Amino acid sequence: MSNQKELLTLLRARREELAERVSRIHRDRTREDGPVQQDFAEQAQERENDEVLDRLEPVAEAELAQFDRAIARAEAGEYGVCEICGEGIDARRLALLPQATTCASCASRAEQSRPA
Ligand SMILES: [Zn+2]
Repeated sequence: MSNQKELLTLLRARREELAERVSRIHRDRTREDGPVQQDFAEQAQERENDEVLDRLEPVAEAELAQFDRAIARAEAGEYGVCEICGEGIDARRLALLPQATTCASCASRAEQSRPA
């Protein structure tokens, strides 16, 4: 595994990118960037965009929260340990998902038990 400092740098950098994306989505949704368009076609277009943003925002926020947890765990020296079963998380999984805080089997169990 790469050293702790490099890992934290990577996690923090990705977290920053994500935080930026969340605030951009939020800005788009709340139209802090300008007045609402008056033209009917543009209004329809904006409503469509809103629906996309409504779905994107919680996803991006959940991902951001995931990074916060992974960073907290790395700082506590518990990075790479599944927060559900306490087993080590597979290195290949961490290479793909450095923000992972659960092992693959706990993650898929959580996925299945999640209400639709
Ligand atoms: Zn686990």
